[in-house]
This record gives sequence, C-alpha cells and structure tokens, in this order.
Amino acid sequence: MLHLLGTGAPFLVAGRTTTMLAVESDGAVLLVDCGGDAVERMQASGLNPAHLTGLIVTHAHADHLGGLPLLVEKLWLGGRTAPLPVYGIASALDVARRLLDLFGAPEWKGLFEIVWTEIPERPRAEVVDDAHFRVVASPVVHALPNVGLRIETKADGHALAYSSDTEPCDAVVDLARGTRLLVHEATGEGPGHSSAAQAAAVAQQAGVPLLVLVHLPPGLSDADLADARAVFPATVLGKEGGRLRV
Ligand SMILES: [Zn+2]
Ligand SMILES: [Zn+2]
Repeated sequence: MLHLLGTGAPFLVAGRTTTMLAVESDGAVLLVDCGGDAVERMQASGLNPAHLTGLIVTHAHADHLGGLPLLVEKLWLGGRTAPLPVYGIASALDVARRLLDLFGAPEWKGLFEIVWTEIPERPRAEVVDDAHFRVVASPVVHALPNVGLRIETKADGHALAYSSDTEPCDAVVDLARGTRLLVHEATGEGPGHSSAAQAAAVAQQAGVPLLVLVHLPPGLSDADLADARAVFPATVLGKEGGRLRV
C-alpha cells in the first residue's frame, strides 16, 4: 500500500505539506523523503512510526530532507531502539548528517543507531533489499543531484515508481516500466521540473496503468488536467493522506 503522506511543492500551498511517501508491506513501512513532519503525517495515515524499517532521502533540498531532525527526535523520544537505515546519494547524506549534528543528535542519550547507506549515482543502483522491499534508484534531471526510485514490495512482487523532482527523463520511464503505478512530480514546466502533461507523456511511454501527480503547485485542480489526460487518461492528482494499492 502506498500512502501519500504529503503531496505539495515547497510553495505556499494551503492544505498540502511537502511531498513524502510511505510504502507499507506486511506491517513494515519504508519512508521516502521527510521535508515536513513525517511522524505526524504517518500517524494521521494510521501508520505506526515504530514500524519504520528505513528512510530514503532522494536529494538535498529542504522540502525533501528538512524534517529529518524532528523525525529522529520523535522516534528517539518514542522509545525506538532498533537501528534506522537511511539511504541517499552522497550529497543528500552529507546534508542529513550535518542537520543531525547541528541539533546535537550524536549526544542524545540512548539514540538508536543510524545506518547510513550511500546510493551510487548510476542507473538502477541497488538501494534496499531487505525482508520487505527491493528498491533501485536512477539519477534524474534536477537542480541538484537527485534520484528516482522503483520500489517493489516483496510480499506480492508489485512495484511502483517515484520520479522525485525532475524534468521529464528516460530514467523515470525505465524505472516505471512494468510497475503498477507511477508517482510523478508536476510542479510545472521549467528547469529541473515537469508539468502535468509532461508527466503524462512519461507515464504513456512507460505503459503504466496509473499516474499519480505529486509535488503540486498552489491552485492546481482536476480541471487543469485536460492536457495531461489527453496524453494519458489515467492521470490523477495525489490527495493528501491518500492511499493507493500497489
Ligand atoms: Zn528538489
Ligand atoms: Zn522538491
């Protein structure tokens, strides 16, 4: 099950927090990005933060990573003792470590171990291969180094793809092929980002059954999706707190 914990771009979007995803399988929860209060959003979606088996941070922008110290603090005060794997490309892990250092996290008494795992910046790099999930990542086209993801839940072998922030690119088409769902950003056309219609073209090329748009700008509504649906009819706007069966 995919939970859309947040679906907004980092603008003044009423009713949407930053784009954060949680994938749930057999009681395990994998979190993707934490620009906002990820624990609050998990709880609002009925997910137990104690069941978190890992965090993937796609890139070093604040709307994808800025909530990390709060996430770690809440898990720590909530009694977590299990190590927390944090996966990211080198530039994202560097900012993540410095954020935690700024708040003095290494001195927090009894803080669980954070297991830093670097994602190599090459197509279909292995990220996670644990009891519940298999994840691969490929570089995408953004203002900073960034990766898109293909996340498979091992319980049923189903998969979804997530573009993170990117211009339309072949890497996302490749990640999305054969998946049941593409979660693609639709911030708007411009350097490092995509419009809804551009995301629809990526979904069409990948041949996925469903496209869910996230990283949404203020004011975007269903009525604005005519161009996108002309290219790829199965296009929907991500709903804050929405759940989608993978
Ligand atoms: Zn970004
Ligand atoms: Zn972003």
